[in-house]
Amino acid sequence: MDLISAEEFERVFEKPYVTSRRMKFDIKSTEAQHYRRFLLQRRTEENRKGDGLRVPAMAGMSTPDGIGRAPRGINDGKGFVFISHLGEVFPSGFLPVSAGNVRKQSLTELYCHPPLFVSLRDSANLKGKCGVCEFREACGGSRARAYALTGDVFAEEPCCIWQPKIPERRDLCPS
Ligand code: SF4
Repeated sequence: MDLISAEEFERVFEKPYVTSRRMKFDIKSTEAQHYRRFLLQRRTEENRKGDGLRVPAMAGMSTPDGIGRAPRGINDGKGFVFISHLGEVFPSGFLPVSAGNVRKQSLTELYCHPPLFVSLRDSANLKGKCGVCEFREACGGSRARAYALTGDVFAEEPCCIWQPKIPERRDLCPS
């Protein structure tokens, strides 16, 4: 009930973005994968206007994830796991689909091999606009939010305003 809209997300993103340009500390978002898309778009805009050099290095905007926290776009089950107090291993703390338990299997096995984790790391499995989005490797949308709202872990991010430039995947396939 408290979920903000896609438009509100954009307005909220403005605040950490503006702060990151002013302050010398790193700003991290949680379950806001599309903040990376927002940052990458802003950087492109600023470079076009010739303002890019004023973006502080601490903002980490020269890295692929756009935030500077990791060399790749971290997402649920993709460079990240959550282990509950009972030892259950989830793709994130917001995505309650367990791959197993660390009391029975090693964390390496639970991260590397379960079909859910393997599928989550392959952006080809993303559906809807996330599946054809030019930002899908850096962003990919929140898999947890997609699951919470649709029951499908690969459904498109429900709270992103971006419309990919590439046509829907079904348009690419002859009927
Ligand atoms: S459409 Fe999906 S992959 Fe593209 S920016 Fe939005 S949430 Fe990210």
